[in-house]
Amino acid sequence: MTFETLGLHTSILRAITDSGYTEPTSVQVQAVPAAIAGRDLLVSSQTGSGKTAAFMLPALHKFATAADSLDVTAADKTPNQERQSARSRGERPRFVAAKPKMLVLTPTRELALQVTTATEKYSAYSRKIKAVSILGGMPYPKQMQLLSRNPEILVATPGRLIDHMESGKIDFSELQILVLDEADRMLDMGFIDDIEKIVAATPESRQTMLFSATLDGVVGNMARRITKDPMIIQIAGSATKHENITQKVHFVDDLSHKNRLLDHLLRDESVDQAVVFTATKRDADTIADRLNIAGFAAAALHGDMHQGARNRTLDALRRGQVRVLVATDVAARGIDVPAITHVFNYDLPKFPEDYVHRIGRTGRAGRNGVAVSLVNHAEGINVKRIERFTKQLIPVDVIEGFEPKKSAVASRSTARKPGGWKPGDARSSSSGNGYGGGNSNGNSSKPGQRTFSKPNSPPAGSGSRSEGSGSGGGYKGSGSRFGDANGNRRSFGDR
Ligand code: AMP
Repeated sequence: MTFETLGLHTSILRAITDSGYTEPTSVQVQAVPAAIAGRDLLVSSQTGSGKTAAFMLPALHKFATAADSLDVTAADKTPNQERQSARSRGERPRFVAAKPKMLVLTPTRELALQVTTATEKYSAYSRKIKAVSILGGMPYPKQMQLLSRNPEILVATPGRLIDHMESGKIDFSELQILVLDEADRMLDMGFIDDIEKIVAATPESRQTMLFSATLDGVVGNMARRITKDPMIIQIAGSATKHENITQKVHFVDDLSHKNRLLDHLLRDESVDQAVVFTATKRDADTIADRLNIAGFAAAALHGDMHQGARNRTLDALRRGQVRVLVATDVAARGIDVPAITHVFNYDLPKFPEDYVHRIGRTGRAGRNGVAVSLVNHAEGINVKRIERFTKQLIPVDVIEGFEPKKSAVASRSTARKPGGWKPGDARSSSSGNGYGGGNSNGNSSKPGQRTFSKPNSPPAGSGSRSEGSGSGGGYKGSGSRFGDANGNRRSFGDR
């Protein structure tokens, strides 16, 4: 299958060639022709599957085809042009609301910016297509300036968009395409009311495309309410399994053990760039500080940081100036940096879906990656939940000199009953906080010492062995989600 056979406009094919894509991914193969035909879509796929192009290419195709047949002189004036005309007529210019043709809603600012950047890339040869991001944290005057250009495509996070809608700055009466990107995540973050309000402000005649890791439960209910005879596309299988990512669990006795092990693993020469996930913003800051003191080029990224600081950190990561990003889930959504070879779960995520998203920060664009979870013994049950969700066993790895006192098998079997775990349990009661020092035998870990395998290669021999490893797929589980079965809001207070 080629992009030509998908029937895309020549201007878009040119941009795809520039992007270096040689063939469409599976989600693109299924979604693009259906979306060009005007179908509503419900797509279960992960970030990393090429989903942005799956909804953006057919939309751009539609706009490019319409532009070909448009009488340019008859084109509507932009709000800016309207104001200028009013001034030249000696009238007081009134504010004219932007009338976008496409709206993409995303859960986070980072994902919104990433979608906008991808759109600019895919529309590089398309006439008259402007895409802008409308995000919380961005100064209002800047956003007003962006809206006054009357962009065809708005990429927005729900909260800020509602502000502009309510103050009459945006008029959705001409909206043709609505995309909900990572819809499950938006619901997890409590955006359901905002989404309902936004959807209600758009025309019934719109085309709706919803992308989500899962189409079960509340997401599925909402999806069915807002779409018409949707085509359902399920791509989640291989993406959820992340077959190009080598996954491992290391059991640790306490925080000191965890910190020493993280330090050791980060010094492995196969780590080009890494993301370390923490449960809280405060831990992200603390661990980034500690890692900097230990000699790593580390930076924190979390939802308490101003957008400018978040953007600077992400730019530094893309340029390779930051080697270790210490992040919370919310901030890390949407990071697409191919040089990230490793993801470390310093804390396990609250929900198994987040595990899948987290590890998807590595192994981007067809590369291999490594995902390592540092888990205390009481958290064995949470590892099992992730395994049930991904239907894969995550092998336990042990590094010589960093062995936990309790065996991993015992940790798994003495794990608490399902439901007994609460957010925050990840913390060990230990007060230890050693960093960069010796291993548990009092030996020093040597910088650069190889202790674990390169992405997707078998575990390195001498220093590393696996316990209880499985080939994956042997685990048949319910795939149940953590948390609220009714899909009510979950609190993400400190993330
Ligand atoms: P996404 O799932 O949209 O976040 O895309 C993940 C990554 O895959 C991005 O870096 C895209 O640039 C890249 N990508 C998207 N489509 C293709 C394709 N057909 N071939 C190669 N890379 C792609």
